[in-house]
Amino acid sequence: MRLEFWGAAQTVTGSMHVLRVNGSMILLDCGLFQGRRQESYERNLNFPFSPKALEGLILSHAHMDHSGNLPNLVKQGYTGPVFATNGTRDLCAAMLADSGKIHESDAQYVNKKRAQQNLPPIEPLYTLQDAVNCMNSFVASGYDRQFAVGPGIKAIFRDAGHILGSAGMEVEIQEGARTVRLGFSGDIGRKGMAILRDPQPVRDVDVLIMESTYGDRLHETPEQAMDKLRNLINQVVARRGKIVIPAFAVGRTQEIVYELHQLALKGGIPHIPIFVDSPLALGVTEVYRIHPECYDAETRQFLLENHEQDLFGFKNMQYVRSTEESKALNAMEGPMVIISASGMAEAGRVLHHLKNTITDPRNAVLIVGWQAPNTLGRKLMDREHRVKIFGEEYPLRAQVEVIHGYSAHADRGDLIDYARQVQQGGRLHKVFLVHGEPEPARALVPALKKLGLTVYYPANGEGFEV
Ligand SMILES: [Zn+2]
Repeated sequence: MRLEFWGAAQTVTGSMHVLRVNGSMILLDCGLFQGRRQESYERNLNFPFSPKALEGLILSHAHMDHSGNLPNLVKQGYTGPVFATNGTRDLCAAMLADSGKIHESDAQYVNKKRAQQNLPPIEPLYTLQDAVNCMNSFVASGYDRQFAVGPGIKAIFRDAGHILGSAGMEVEIQEGARTVRLGFSGDIGRKGMAILRDPQPVRDVDVLIMESTYGDRLHETPEQAMDKLRNLINQVVARRGKIVIPAFAVGRTQEIVYELHQLALKGGIPHIPIFVDSPLALGVTEVYRIHPECYDAETRQFLLENHEQDLFGFKNMQYVRSTEESKALNAMEGPMVIISASGMAEAGRVLHHLKNTITDPRNAVLIVGWQAPNTLGRKLMDREHRVKIFGEEYPLRAQVEVIHGYSAHADRGDLIDYARQVQQGGRLHKVFLVHGEPEPARALVPALKKLGLTVYYPANGEGFEV
């Protein structure tokens, strides 16, 4: 059996790993590589193998850096099944369609520039129609149910507790007389997060492919995050300001809405208007609503005791649909909370809200996710004195708060704990660290070696016999 790493190798984007066994080629994840425009386009367009030669694909979760290149894979001739959990399948329906639209408008933008330089137009990486087409390849499975992937290959999903439907997987491979059990952690979530269950590590595997995003960092606890959120809202309400929260449409938005709902119910914050202004968030929230099988015991209990309550909607909360409604928020007086995408404030409706709020010291910007270098989100987080929005400079006078406690990723302690739990089965001996920049990944190595494990940190394109 051979493993090859073709994405999220020594970086955090473009998750894609190839498993070659018994003459078959199986793919684990098919993520979008996200980075500089030209490099990303080329890398996503050209697969390092023939999509027609693949026999199966197992998907860990719906985040774009894990599922986002699937429409392109199918467009280029992949005809096999895409195994995913029920939640991941439904999230992908909403998210890949949205991604298809983004690729269409990206290509339009690039082609306008190319036309000025007399260059021929490029095709979008994939279109909305390609995204719709690839949904026909999905074969959905519940958690903890074994399914056949190909000759001599079986797999099972375990709840990764990262976003709705997220999974780690155990792949059991029969190679002649030998049985190898391979684990892939996917992205590992955190204990005690709102809505979702705690991560369930994969079991009894010989070899583990494990994420390492935050291998060198400890997060705030969910309780600390909730305290900070409550304090900030009360401060801003007292000065009648607005709070703008740039948040990705998937996961973070639903989590913040849930937390605000709980705070309002317990009297921790006053009843102020809360607006969720992101069309994709609306679709994704509907998917969260129809998958109660992914909720944790606390959320189920809340629903049992509060039949009339809606988890993701309450009296003061409104989902904003049209652009007109979105713009109307600018003229409204605070206090209010606006949650809007994109999460790094690079695009989307959140830009209008930031433009209209950051110059007033009564207002606040709340950062709840990782911000890539050079993004507007990062500049706000670094409290730069002046920032550019739509090409114009604005002074940053609003308060800026950062809460790291809403990360959907395991921190250093959780990652080491995950490996320790997997190793308790006694079979695990090799770990391949993926989905991590060099610093955090390398910081994990000594702790994993102490557990008696051999640790690899594969480069892009590197292959290993296991
Ligand atoms: Zn993820």
